[in-house]
Amino acid sequence: MSTVVEVESVIIGSGFAGLGAGVELLRRGARDFVILEQASRVGGVWRDNVYPGCACDVRVHLYSFSFFPNPDWSHTYARQDELLAYLERTATTFGLTPHLRFGRKVVEARWSEADAKWLVRCDNGETYRARFLVAGLGGLSRPALPDVPGLSSFAGPVFHSARWDHAVPLAGKRVGVIGTGASAIQFVPPLVEVAKQVLVFQRTPAWIIPRRDKPIAGWVRALFRAAPFVQQALRWLIYWLHEARVPAFTTSTWLMGLASRLARKHLERQVPDPTLRQKLAPAYAMGCKRVLISDDFYPAVSKPSCEVITTAIARVVEGGVETTDGVVHPCDVLVFGTGFQVTDVVGALEIVGRGGRRLAEVWRDGAKAWFGTAVHGFPNLFLMTGPNTGLGHSSMVFMIEAQLAFVGKAIDIVTNTGARWWEVRDDAEARFNEHLARKLPKTIWLSGCRSWYLDERGQNVTLWPGFTFTFRAGLSRFDKRQHHLEGVSA
Ligand code: NAP
Repeated sequence: MSTVVEVESVIIGSGFAGLGAGVELLRRGARDFVILEQASRVGGVWRDNVYPGCACDVRVHLYSFSFFPNPDWSHTYARQDELLAYLERTATTFGLTPHLRFGRKVVEARWSEADAKWLVRCDNGETYRARFLVAGLGGLSRPALPDVPGLSSFAGPVFHSARWDHAVPLAGKRVGVIGTGASAIQFVPPLVEVAKQVLVFQRTPAWIIPRRDKPIAGWVRALFRAAPFVQQALRWLIYWLHEARVPAFTTSTWLMGLASRLARKHLERQVPDPTLRQKLAPAYAMGCKRVLISDDFYPAVSKPSCEVITTAIARVVEGGVETTDGVVHPCDVLVFGTGFQVTDVVGALEIVGRGGRRLAEVWRDGAKAWFGTAVHGFPNLFLMTGPNTGLGHSSMVFMIEAQLAFVGKAIDIVTNTGARWWEVRDDAEARFNEHLARKLPKTIWLSGCRSWYLDERGQNVTLWPGFTFTFRAGLSRFDKRQHHLEGVSA
């Protein structure tokens, strides 16, 4: 039997975005909200990705909440378990635990005109009726498993990097790895350590630069504890170092030429074998796909127990992978490091706004929003990490915090003005997207490679083409000319 639970706000997801939204609501004095999470614990991608070697590829002093500094990070790039523990601590420290509802997969959110509320339906039969809806679904939450012919005929275990099956023994096995993206370059080195043989099926080589990860010394952590402003200063230093990279991606892409020399040197230094080096050398502009950081991927694939196969996969057969040259590469286990369904922003979740308009329909020609946060016709809905909020150069946590400040402000304004609801104005959203459309063609991401940044029409619906401080500035004010408050005279 279905039940309806009345709340002021519903937050979907308990990753950085969902938990951050909870903290923002509490900070503004709101108490009547729930965080709906389909899994049984918080953490988002840091709960789901448990593959060996999983770690953050942005320096952790920036890849963490500004309002919740952790002086005890162990390394420059935090490991998955540390990030998961940090998110769990965020939930407990800020008092989010009573708001969390686990095992609730949201299947539909429908705007009810009659009472100006969202009806948020979960797959367990529960429905939440809420004034505000914050969707922290995460762009990298739904694994992409390519439809390789013959996959079902494979005799051994098959899994995706984001659903790593630790019950499958890999020691002494021949493991086929499909993909060489950010996830694969992290799990291939530890895999090479345990497996008898690792066959890496590479479709496109990645640009890889040195990672230079280091343990953070005890005295440095003690300093961060004793003098938090030092850690704060480090955060800002890292922030500005990252922002300095923006022109190379957006307006002055020739600068990438300089950076690519560093990457080429890294490859030359770490891969002595010229044949392998050639296989690993990218032939597209650096930055077009995500630039990866690693100090151990090249040494790992240089080991005799690892082979990089660049001939395209034709099919999977019972005993392995057959490439288009007719060679069957025997494998006992297959691991897909093939990324996520990113451009289909809301995935299987049906969102229906005013006048019964489906978000999927509004976005049939590509996902668009105002600052990746609001869509005209979808009142009181906040999309976290929505279209064109992704980054190729810095920390998503910064973008999330910029969005959160707007979410809190908008909710306060709707509440305090007595508005029936709020939505972004049509013309403001259109102007914003025209601005993006002018900027995006000049970026390196549209320089001719195929990447998950682009949707099937070749449009970049994922990345923010500018400095992150301009994104934050755009969301820092609630400009009445850009927003409509129903029932409040302008
Ligand atoms: P990804 O970057 O999308 O890489 C997927 C890989 O699979 C690519 O090498 C791709 O080749 C290959 N591939 C996809 N479909 C294929 C097919 N049908 N046949 C053969 N190869 C195929 O995915 P990811 O490595 O999981 O990373 C996704 C994103 O997650 C990253 O870009 C990053 O933003 C994030 N991430 C972050 C961290 C972190 O440390 N913070 C770690 C992991 C991931 P092509 O290049 O030819 O398409």
